[in-house]
Amino acid sequence: MEGLTRFKQAILRAAKKAYREKLMAGTSGNMSVFFPERKWMIITPSSYDYEIMEEKDIVVTDLEGNVIEGCHRPSSEWRMHAEIYRHLPHVGAVVHTHSPYATSFAVNHQEIPVVLIEMIPFLKGKLEVSPYAKQGSAQVGLNAVPILTRKNACLMANHGVVAVGDTIESAYMNSVYVEDTAKIYHMAVQSGTPVVIPGYEE
Ligand code: 13P
Ligand code: ZN
Repeated sequence: MEGLTRFKQAILRAAKKAYREKLMAGTSGNMSVFFPERKWMIITPSSYDYEIMEEKDIVVTDLEGNVIEGCHRPSSEWRMHAEIYRHLPHVGAVVHTHSPYATSFAVNHQEIPVVLIEMIPFLKGKLEVSPYAKQGSAQVGLNAVPILTRKNACLMANHGVVAVGDTIESAYMNSVYVEDTAKIYHMAVQSGTPVVIPGYEE
């Protein structure tokens, strides 16, 4: 199907870029686009090497995880992606990473205050932490939904990052800003006391 091909290519580009930029290590992380006409997800395959991933390896499923197209298992986090699309109709794409600086804050259950200008337009404020849920469960997504109603990304306790956007390109960019924020905040804490941007001290 015409539209599906375009989405598969866009996911492949974003996945390889995220791997190159070290937002994902090994086969960790996953990403998807929502195809609202059919309520399908175009999603990365589970545990698959990003370096050898091709367009034909991207999987299409419905929101119940039934495979519509593809020769691999969909990401084990398909339930998280499905819950986000079910609850947040404005979201067109989801990017999940284990990017190291951001994930270290997720491991500490530590949110990141608004210390950088990019956090305002891209992330919509401070980076909050969603409660821990078992990998692959719908609860991973359900725990993130209340934050993603207001924000474009959150840290997932003891796990990683989830970023959303209207397109895969914007969700990817938001995941980049999450890691950049965490890295700079980490460095700022080493060298001094980070100051929150005035008006964002909530
Ligand atoms: P998948 O390879 O199944 O997408 O899992 C990676 C991951 O990040 C699990 O949370
Ligand atoms: Zn993960």
